[in-house]
Amino acid sequence: MMPLVDNHKISNSFLEINIDSIIHNYQLINNKVGNTECAAVLKADAYGMGASVVAKALDKVGCSTFFVATIDEGIELRACFSKNEKQIAVLSGLLEGSEDIFYSNKLTPVLNDTEQIKKWAIYNQQKKISAPSILHIDTGMNRLGLTINELYDIIKNPTELKELNVEWIMSHLACGDQPRDIMNEKQLSVFLNAKKEFPNVKASLANSAGVFLGQSYHLDMVRPGIALYGSGSGSIPSKPLKQVIKLYSRILQIRTLSTGASVGYGASYRVSKATRVATVGLGYADGYLRSLSNCSWVFFNGLRLPVIGRISMDYITIDITQIASEKIKTGDFIEIIGDKFTLDDLATVANTVPHELLTRLGTRHHRIYRNTNNISK
Ligand SMILES: *Cc1c(COP(=O)(O)O)cnc(C)c1O
Repeated sequence: MMPLVDNHKISNSFLEINIDSIIHNYQLINNKVGNTECAAVLKADAYGMGASVVAKALDKVGCSTFFVATIDEGIELRACFSKNEKQIAVLSGLLEGSEDIFYSNKLTPVLNDTEQIKKWAIYNQQKKISAPSILHIDTGMNRLGLTINELYDIIKNPTELKELNVEWIMSHLACGDQPRDIMNEKQLSVFLNAKKEFPNVKASLANSAGVFLGQSYHLDMVRPGIALYGSGSGSIPSKPLKQVIKLYSRILQIRTLSTGASVGYGASYRVSKATRVATVGLGYADGYLRSLSNCSWVFFNGLRLPVIGRISMDYITIDITQIASEKIKTGDFIEIIGDKFTLDDLATVANTVPHELLTRLGTRHHRIYRNTNNISK
């Protein structure tokens, strides 16, 4: 359920999404890769940022290829661009019986195995069409895509391949965020060898981290996701990227605990002196992971405040003893993610990737899109 009250002043928390930052990050990458095309990965509702809003913003600055994970995401995105010819590619591939849906919604299947290649070839033959496809070659991720052996089997006996309009070949890096890992070079070299078999087909390898591995990884198209949303995780130099989200949550109650009192489920935190605590209105149902219990921070007026006790579904508890009581009150908003404590900082504390935090933000935060004047109507 989206918030029904159209006023963040009476919501538990609000999430600011800065559209100009997304555009800045796209243009930064687009400039960095020169003549290489810069696509955008909008799977999982554009990592929770809102796929249609992000797509329309990126449309304005010339992005013409979008990647989603599922058919449903593809259909939803196509509805934003019904009149124009944006390429929308579905990474999870051509599921049994989905050919008509792909074709009627002008979605491009990423063909991940020989069965999918056959099915799309037969469908195109029967319909007397030549609908585009992307061939996914697995160069070491071992997740999706044709293995190298399967690829060379097909090349030896290319009956189906001949029927296909393969516009792109692609592969995906397993260790892009670890620039020194030799896996990157290995995957690149396997992919470049495969590419020789497709002299007239364009090739794509790099995700966000891959963009920053150097020009040899850019090929004909890069596919950034997380960097567009402001994260410089791992190897990505985060400085030039602009933060996209800020998350604030409200203090719902303040109390003073005496020495020895416990906080929250499991009584996992006990205060060793008189302590003023505040209960704040977000929890793991809002993407504030339960694993952050007793180990995270929030900020208020530039001051760092520890999160104490277990994270519960809808609330966290913070220690506000260091702030004079007249300076903080019920109803005040606390910075959960912002300038002082970025998405990447929180991901590090949570021992996860920023991708996970973003995609789990959920739907309860009141959303405020900033700088939406760039969104095409
Ligand atoms: C998710 C994904 C991307 C984007 O990855 P980021 O790390 O978010 O840049 C690119 N390509 C494929 C195949 C993906 O699954």
